[in-house]
Amino acid sequence: MQVEVPFVDLARGTGDLRNEIDQAIGRVMDRGRFILGEEVEGFEREFAQATGARAAVGVASGTDALELSLRALGIGPGDKVVTQANTCIPTVSAIERAGAQPVLCDVDPETAAMDPASLSATLGSRTRAVILVHLYGQCGPIRDVCEVAGAAGVDVIEDCAQAHLAAVDGRLAGTIGALGAFSFYPTKNLGAFGDSGAILCGSEEMEQRLRALRVYGAPGRGDVSNPGVNSRLDEIQAAVLRVKLRHLERWNRRRAAIAAIYDAALADASVRPLKRLPGTEHAFHLYVVRASSRDAFRSALRQAGVETGVHYAQAVHNHPGYANLVCQAIPLVNAERLAAEVVSLPMGPHLSDAEVEYVASAAAEAATQSQ
Ligand SMILES: *Cc1c(COP(=O)(O)O)cnc(C)c1O
Repeated sequence: MQVEVPFVDLARGTGDLRNEIDQAIGRVMDRGRFILGEEVEGFEREFAQATGARAAVGVASGTDALELSLRALGIGPGDKVVTQANTCIPTVSAIERAGAQPVLCDVDPETAAMDPASLSATLGSRTRAVILVHLYGQCGPIRDVCEVAGAAGVDVIEDCAQAHLAAVDGRLAGTIGALGAFSFYPTKNLGAFGDSGAILCGSEEMEQRLRALRVYGAPGRGDVSNPGVNSRLDEIQAAVLRVKLRHLERWNRRRAAIAAIYDAALADASVRPLKRLPGTEHAFHLYVVRASSRDAFRSALRQAGVETGVHYAQAVHNHPGYANLVCQAIPLVNAERLAAEVVSLPMGPHLSDAEVEYVASAAAEAATQSQ
């Protein structure tokens, strides 16, 4: 029997929390404080606790979290910031919004994670930071990246928008580099009912800088020395996030269990799941396979009722608006090849056992058909 499995289904995802979330939103309405109040403070405290960070600062989106991280580190016009060519566009938008110049490096062809050797080749005298993206929910090679960057006196920012509670060698994403930027866009592992984000930071000084930057540089507290922006986390979003945060670990475990079922079904298939990095605990924001006949594989799945995604169909520099980011000295061939092959299968804690089994066998079947 054919089963229809959509790629995302957010209404179903929050269904069983409906009463708890209604009450949380009701509390905000009753209190009558909608910006930077006790829900935001509570969420910041609880998110820092959940990740083992010293502090968390709530902001309006993941892109803002990256931009304010760069600004807090004093990065702006005249500076270069390196990130990987297979990231999603907002990583690059944030660098440009901070006034800096993005530079792309290549990735490992098997894991899709940043390649430290390629990173090393991009570093120059104007390079001030690296944004390592924990893509698809798997921590990138943070130790190697910190070593390469550290030797050059360059800060590392972790883009954790897809990696809530992911870990490497027991340390959580966002707590290893100088700052960790998170998005709570609705489809992320921890998603709000709109836009929001947060930054994890390890020092009091960074925390105070970020708290000022998110409210115009904090003119309410006296003279503005670092001009900021308006990027606040709303009370209602924070109230929703507090409820959902309590379920995040369980949801991530469910994602990992689904990934194990997909892995088993595809063990001998012509499409191959991306390789995992040793020592990492994957948050499985996305379950990504490489298919050399991608269109045929996706269309066979579509016919079976299974919707898939592509993250991302083009490397950053192959978008017309970013063609200027290509540097001939740094080949980006692995990012380009991955862009032509990656396919994301439906993934999320809302999927039923029956749906997961159906997707797993449909994917194995589609792999055979599309070979
Ligand atoms: C979602 C995402 C962002 C941007 O977050 P927004 O909240 O949409 O601004 C940045 N980087 C990565 C890797 C993402 O997946």
